[in-house]
Amino acid sequence: MEIKIIKTPAEMQLQAITWKQEGLRIALVPTMGCLHAGHLSLMRKAAQDADRVIVSLFVNPIQFGPNEDFDAYPRQFQDDCDLAEKEGVHAIFCPDAKEMYPKGFQTTVSVKTLAQGMCGANRPGHFDGVATVVCKLLHLTIPDIAIFGEKDFQQLAIIRQMVRDLDVPVTIIGAPIVREADGLAMSSRNKYLKGEMRTQALCLYRSIQAAQETVAHAQQGVAADAIIEATKKTVAEAGGRLEYAVVVNENSLQAETFVGSSSVLAIAVKIGGVVRLIDNAKLFPASK
Ligand code: AMP
Repeated sequence: MEIKIIKTPAEMQLQAITWKQEGLRIALVPTMGCLHAGHLSLMRKAAQDADRVIVSLFVNPIQFGPNEDFDAYPRQFQDDCDLAEKEGVHAIFCPDAKEMYPKGFQTTVSVKTLAQGMCGANRPGHFDGVATVVCKLLHLTIPDIAIFGEKDFQQLAIIRQMVRDLDVPVTIIGAPIVREADGLAMSSRNKYLKGEMRTQALCLYRSIQAAQETVAHAQQGVAADAIIEATKKTVAEAGGRLEYAVVVNENSLQAETFVGSSSVLAIAVKIGGVVRLIDNAKLFPASK
């Protein structure tokens, strides 16, 4: 089946309704394009559990702040279509921002507490933009399942909460972080890492590995502060600028005093003053 390129919300919804009427199970993989192996892993997971896989390629303007990289965000439409087609994706949904947010658009989906810390604190309004676009995408594609990467750990928690709160009939599935051979989490923004910035970017994964080792070898409870201090040092030594390092409960996203079996270390770092990278991992052994 040839991949369908769907450009308008109306066409997308009609196609999804048609597939539902045919009794087909739909999976949605929302992305902002510039696809890499992380995105492709979500598509593969989607295909395992659905008859039709829809990938949205949409750089969502309302989730970028005024001083963020919306205009500079990497875009590679034709390559993305080719990559998705190779994964057996059935439809690409690539709407125009003017169609998604026509003149007079005025509704926002806002998940409150979960969006307050971490990326939410540094990117005001970001998660309102994410929750709003994902809510729209879920209505337009009517999926049985939607796949999100654990790389965007706070985003995943927020989407799960939104779906619960608004009774959206979809199952949200998290997929593990795909990394480069040296541990750097794959990201569309890795394209910006030039020269020594690429080496500096390893400070995120190195902090995670060090934290996991500390926890694995500890004879007694490990204080979250010790992990955070070690992370600050690793990032500073690499020349990165730490935006945040937190040890939080994986479900509530509340800060923890001691590392427990549900603790996640989440980090955001600016490399070279411009490239903002995030990473996270559970801290107990035998976790992700
Ligand atoms: P983005 O295009 O960056 O908005 O990401 C689209 C989806 O891909 C989100 O659910 C991300 O969490 C997921 N994703 C991005 N990078 C990775 C990665 N390295 N491993 C797994 N999933 C990822």
